[in-house]
Amino acid sequence: MNRLYNALQLKRLHQLKQLGFRYVPLIETRSPSPSSLPDDLKTLEQIVSQCQLCPLSKTRTKTVFGEGDPHASLMFVGEGPGAQEDTTGRPFVGRAGELLTKMIENVLEIPRSAVYIANIVKCRPPNNRVPTPEEAYTCLPYLHKQIELIRPKIVAALGATAYHYLTGDKTGITKIRGTVLDMGDFKLVPTYHPSYLLRNPSAKKESYKDLLTIKGLL
Ligand code: URA
Repeated sequence: MNRLYNALQLKRLHQLKQLGFRYVPLIETRSPSPSSLPDDLKTLEQIVSQCQLCPLSKTRTKTVFGEGDPHASLMFVGEGPGAQEDTTGRPFVGRAGELLTKMIENVLEIPRSAVYIANIVKCRPPNNRVPTPEEAYTCLPYLHKQIELIRPKIVAALGATAYHYLTGDKTGITKIRGTVLDMGDFKLVPTYHPSYLLRNPSAKKESYKDLLTIKGLL
């Protein structure tokens, strides 16, 4: 019976191929189901620390869950951990992190510990490449759960990758920054990634304006 069924399936596939259809492998995303995730950050962090759902888990040293005030009204979301974040398990502790900390403390005039900082992916992409859609979509439920639990008033998307995966919109960051998006539960402020600012210091004046917008919304 099984053999007959398989033969018929093969015949059907052969016919489809004759008609011009081609086999395209599915992107396999084995995301955690949001309803299966715990309702507290500590347990969520533990689950993330053991996650092996995407290839980044094979090359990471430490997962980088996120840190800050669990009741923060402002959350920053970056792209993914870099080398120093991968070694320490803490977000934004390298050069870009130093700049982000200065932006928070000098412009927003609040301590870094008063905000929450996380990333789209919790494991370092090798050579700091941009996470693949498979990696980002697999990891996103963790970030969605963090946002749900922290309930920030404002989420600042640092750079195009963070903006893209938080909204589904592919508009570039240069075009979209300067706007505030109403996401229902929170306001989204897209702005430049601190690494971009390190490479393009002239963009700091726009970044400063975005920070003043955030300050006004807080
Ligand atoms: N860049 C990011 O996007 N996130 C970090 O945590 C560090 C650098």
